[in-house]
Amino acid sequence: MGVNQPLGDNIIVTSLDKLVNWTRKSSIWPMTFGLACCAIEMMAAGASHHDLDRFGIIFRASPRQSDCIIIAGTVTKKMLPVIKTVYEQMPEPKWVIAMGACACSGGIFDTYSVVQGIDEALPVDVYVPGCPPRPEALLYGILKLQDKIMNERNSFGAAFGLGERVSVA
Ligand code: SF4
Repeated sequence: MGVNQPLGDNIIVTSLDKLVNWTRKSSIWPMTFGLACCAIEMMAAGASHHDLDRFGIIFRASPRQSDCIIIAGTVTKKMLPVIKTVYEQMPEPKWVIAMGACACSGGIFDTYSVVQGIDEALPVDVYVPGCPPRPEALLYGILKLQDKIMNERNSFGAAFGLGERVSVA
């Protein structure tokens, strides 16, 4: 199956892609959004000791200003429609981090009321395992997301509606 790259594969597009990717990975703005105990570790990652600001990561209070959502905690079936609504209100491009065993797979809550992994509903980019993951683990996950953003292709073209961004593993 071929990959549609409307602007071709020349040196200028590659350079612009890298520039766009670099600006995006250097200014990830996650939603201020927590669901359960993992959110406490997420808050610790954003506080002074770990200081996510030094990576250009600033939590935003509105989905319309966010390009990343960290699913930090247990996802109940009752909460899932709310999460989907918040995600859909975020503009493109946007990324999803599943933080902790509950968000990745339901964790210990194999029950009727808990979603067995947020990837049933949202396209997860990075999984951070653990119960709970330490702030350092979330930091590592964010660095992996930055690597993924840097490896995207056609970022510049997609910004002008020319094709889709292509994620290279
Ligand atoms: S993974 Fe563990 S710490 Fe995180 S929300 Fe689930 S039970 Fe809480």
